[in-house]
Amino acid sequence: MPEMPEVETILMDLKPLLAGRRIVSADCADPSAIKMPGAHGEFCRRVAGTTIVDLHRIAKYLILRLDTGDEIVLHLRMTGRLVYDPDGEQPATRERVALKLDGGGTLRFVDLRRLGTLHLVRDARRLPAIEALGPDPLAPRFTARRLRRLLRGRRSRIKPLLMDQRFLAGLGNIYANEALHCAGIRPTRRAHTITMDEARRLHRAVRRVLRKGVMHGGASTRTYRRPDGSVGRFQEAFEVYDRAGAPCPTCGEPIKRIMVAGRGTFYCSRCQR
Ligand SMILES: [Zn+2]
Repeated sequence: MPEMPEVETILMDLKPLLAGRRIVSADCADPSAIKMPGAHGEFCRRVAGTTIVDLHRIAKYLILRLDTGDEIVLHLRMTGRLVYDPDGEQPATRERVALKLDGGGTLRFVDLRRLGTLHLVRDARRLPAIEALGPDPLAPRFTARRLRRLLRGRRSRIKPLLMDQRFLAGLGNIYANEALHCAGIRPTRRAHTITMDEARRLHRAVRRVLRKGVMHGGASTRTYRRPDGSVGRFQEAFEVYDRAGAPCPTCGEPIKRIMVAGRGTFYCSRCQR
């Protein structure tokens, strides 16, 4: 599943291609992708002829702001992809929605498992799912002190808590595993037992792994691809994720794999306490 660094990579790739472009028409091969009252007919009518003025990101949501004031809000979920097709007229396989742009070029929303969503709203920040999001770990206001305050009084294990989008927005399984290894904290630790010193390390680690993910163009473990079809490279830099039995890069101890809250969890029993 694309996590925040993957969505940030998609955003940076698409921005120069889409900003300032006019949407000539929208095709909805799969109307169930459109989550709005009046559904796809209304969507196609309202976006045709508009210009994309800007693109930005809130957590894992990608937002295209139109000159009409409307915003297209995309969430890729498990297998969603955005493909920029510079000249092709042929729809892609598993295509759900296509935006044809002036001067040629089509943005295709492709989604094998069809769990991704697309909203057209006046203000993305008012979407209930976005209003419910926790703080953005890369925002300046997200400090170690704030993280410690959030952890206090939470009895759940730290790893599923880090992946809970209402607690912190943007971390999924890969980056939660990597951040906990980087911070030297065991994934099964109860959140409220984390000390101020550990919270400082975790705060630094979360930001570091997210930035590292962006630097590598995201992690292509399964379906994630950049809009031009190329793969991300962060999977080559994993320290623990998907490395069960391989030596810990810090101490050489074999990486362990366990299940925590139903998700594959990787850690070093010597470095992470
Ligand atoms: Zn280790």
